[in-house]
Formats: sequence, C-alpha cells, structure tokens
Amino acid sequence: MIRDIKGLHHVTSMAADANKNNRFFTDTLGLRRVKKTVNFDAPEVYHLYYGDEIGTPGSVMTYFPFGNMPRGRRGAGEVGITEFAVPKGSLKFWTDHLVSKGVPGLEAETTFGESRLHFAGPDGDSFALVESEARNREAWTGAGMTQDVGILGFNGARFRVRDAAATGELLTFMGYQKAETQGDISRYLIEGGNAADTIDVEQLASAAPVADQGAGSVHHIAFAVDDRAAQLRVREALMDTGYQVTPVIDRDYFWAIYFRTPGGILFEIATNEPGFDRDEDTAHLGEALKLPSRYEAHRAQIEQLLPPLTT
Ligand code: ZN
Repeated sequence: MIRDIKGLHHVTSMAADANKNNRFFTDTLGLRRVKKTVNFDAPEVYHLYYGDEIGTPGSVMTYFPFGNMPRGRRGAGEVGITEFAVPKGSLKFWTDHLVSKGVPGLEAETTFGESRLHFAGPDGDSFALVESEARNREAWTGAGMTQDVGILGFNGARFRVRDAAATGELLTFMGYQKAETQGDISRYLIEGGNAADTIDVEQLASAAPVADQGAGSVHHIAFAVDDRAAQLRVREALMDTGYQVTPVIDRDYFWAIYFRTPGGILFEIATNEPGFDRDEDTAHLGEALKLPSRYEAHRAQIEQLLPPLTT
C-alpha cells in the first residue's frame, strides 16, 4: 500500500475564454492567481493557476483556456464536482455573493452532514462550496474576501464512475480509507493529509453515458506527495500493480507523473516541491508571464498568440 499521498495537490480543468476564467476565479471566488504560464505541451494556450497566497498544495485550481472550445458533456469517468472548503457559517454570505454576481446553478444541500452550496463555473464547471471545520488553512484576503468567509483550499472532489468498487480499490491502495456511504456515494478519507483529503465516489448506472471532455470539464486531478523520492516510491508501487505510469515530468513548479484509472479519470501525482515561488517573489506571484526555459526564445511569438488578461 502507498503511504506517501497527502491529499490533493491541484485540479486542472479546461475553459473557453481566458479572461472570463481569470475574472471568475480572482474576482467572484476571490482566489489569488499564483501563476500565469502556458500549457507546456501547447504554448499558445495559457496555464493559469489560482489558489491561496502561495499556492499551497491542496488549494490550487488550474485551467487551460483553449479559446473557442465547446463545452464538455457530463457523464461517467470524470471528476464530477470539484469542492472548495469554506468556513462554518459562511454559506449565507456565499449564496448572496454568487447571486449578486449572476452565478448559475446555485443549489444548497447536505451530504455526509456537511452543508454544501453547488454552483456552476463560467463553462458550466460543477463546483461546490463545503462548510468545514478549522483546517490550518488561511484564505487569501488580497482579492476582497475576509478570513471568516474566504475559500480554504479544496475540501476534495466527487468522482462519477460506472465502477465505484474498482475506483475505491485504487483509492484504498493509494492510502485512502473508506468512511461512510450515503445512497450511491461512498466517502474516502486520507489520514495525515493536507486538509484536501476527501474523495467521494458516486456509482453511476452501468449504462450511464461516458463523459465527453470539453470546456468546463476536469482534465486531471493531482494528488500531493512531499518530494521526488516519495513520488518515485508511488510510481514504483503503481507500476508493480500493473498501472501504466508516465516518466517523471518537470512542470517547473512541481514534478508530475500521470496514469489513467480503471474508471477513466486521469490521475497525477505531483510533488510539493519546489513550489510557485521558485521564479517569482511571493508578493508578485502570478503577475508576469512565466515560460519554461525551452520556450523563452519564442517569448515574443507566444505573447502575441495569448489574449492579454485584463486583470
Ligand atoms: Zn496537473
């Protein structure tokens, strides 16, 4: 069994319009843009990272805004809901705030005893705010949110799959423990994690249509490990169990490996090192366009292809 996973590291989704995406996360949700870079495999597309002050692993929502990308279709084999933690008692504020910003899809409910507010992102992304206990996390207050309401990183995520048992088996192998079940949803928790430690697995009907990825879909979900040594242990354990895992890839702000789950979701294991302040001061994170060194020679062309961000 794997013992090195600390909860979530980041969630990466796809968007259509870069400016709408940037405004939604920095203005409507009050997160900090902690990095403005490009998709390392397609440098004409941004890779935007939003999180707390320093982009603490477990707080980082990232996007590839592909321009005119059509919306994805929800279905089986994907991260169905990305869930942010908010302080107890803050959902009243969030309901009023999201209404005032014209955010669609607001729906309050309780699952596993937690008060939750569902809402949709700019491309129909499925999100929820979950009231949670004190979590050793601080909200980013630089974008107008206060500590008593601001987002405290991820609570976790809900997977929607046709094979909840196989997905649960993988999570257990990764160090998660099965907790409660409510209806078709089983909860998995990781002990000693970074607070983004909850995965809910929803069993869909075996005939449920498979998700079709597009704008508003989660592209992959990344789990955190402390360092490269831990990542290599996880890689070896997964490969010994029969998973096809990529080699270690340098993403400048973390090292990454990827593999596809039995249910069809793309998992990443990302290191907590070196972090988002490796090439910018904390005070100025996310302001300048950062390029991996292999693209620096093409900076002028890349800057011409990227839509300027207005904030
Ligand atoms: Zn990633």
